[in-house]
Amino acid sequence: MPDVIAINEVTVRKGENKEINLNIARLPTQTVIDLPIFVYRAAEDGPTISVTAGLHGDEINGIETIRRMIYNQSIIPHAGTVIAIPVVNVYGFIHTSRKFPDGKDLNRSFPGSSSGSLAGRIAHVLMNEVVPHIDCGIDFHTGGASKENYPHLRCNFDFPRSLELARAFAPPFVVNSKAPDHSFRKAAALQGKPILTFEGGESLRLHDFSIRQGIDGILRLMKHLGMKNSRVANGETRVLPGSRWRRAQYSGLFRASVRIGEQIRRNQVLGYIADPFGETDYKIKAQSDGYVIGLNNMCVVNKGEALIHIAAEGGEK
Ligand SMILES: [Zn+2]
Repeated sequence: MPDVIAINEVTVRKGENKEINLNIARLPTQTVIDLPIFVYRAAEDGPTISVTAGLHGDEINGIETIRRMIYNQSIIPHAGTVIAIPVVNVYGFIHTSRKFPDGKDLNRSFPGSSSGSLAGRIAHVLMNEVVPHIDCGIDFHTGGASKENYPHLRCNFDFPRSLELARAFAPPFVVNSKAPDHSFRKAAALQGKPILTFEGGESLRLHDFSIRQGIDGILRLMKHLGMKNSRVANGETRVLPGSRWRRAQYSGLFRASVRIGEQIRRNQVLGYIADPFGETDYKIKAQSDGYVIGLNNMCVVNKGEALIHIAAEGGEK
């Protein structure tokens, strides 16, 4: 572990904790917009992890997860370094929006560039100021657009180190998923740095169970990496090799008859789609056994819309 690390030319020595305010840009009113980065360095050698949230500015659960750990100081390692960025997409957070003012999705703007769009510039800052220091990271998300996720980690099972870290984090589910192109996870993986994507809850809502799963997971991961020895209960994890969205075959009113986290069996009725005039009411039946890891809470749906996200223990990828 290096004696000194530098982020935005601010140096942090072993044994030091620092808040670094990295100037990103200005609002049209000229108010300066900073990206606050919190660096916690133990005196004792150990790995460096990043903990990031709010890449999508309306996904607040992860922001609250990191905030709680900063507030109660549980984020501070006894060995190694934690780099915490609770609100990566400051613009989206201000506007309670997933994206940047120009419509760019930060998590599809990696690795970015210093002369690109605002989202691309922030991606570039992460890739150049943070990723070179880390051994691995956790990036917090929630479901988007009225979709609610049961707490789980997404990682690519082709990389044994990612799966090992995910098992150490031990959320209720670990789901195999390839990183989307131009995502933070993919860009970091190309530099040999595993980032695990945590999903839990829904945008613009706090979901306490997901937040507690996130905190416990970080503490378990730090324990696994020898960074901190917290008293945290072991997690019970199901490792699921694939997942698939069940989509609406009709337009109409959607009622789910399952809850997120629930185990389902093939042919079980998962929900209904009815027309609003009381003439038809179609059953949606499970095509396989599995677990409900995500659910659309929107009750008016169009044909083709994603309704129920099911992760399966066998074959389905
Ligand atoms: Zn997200």
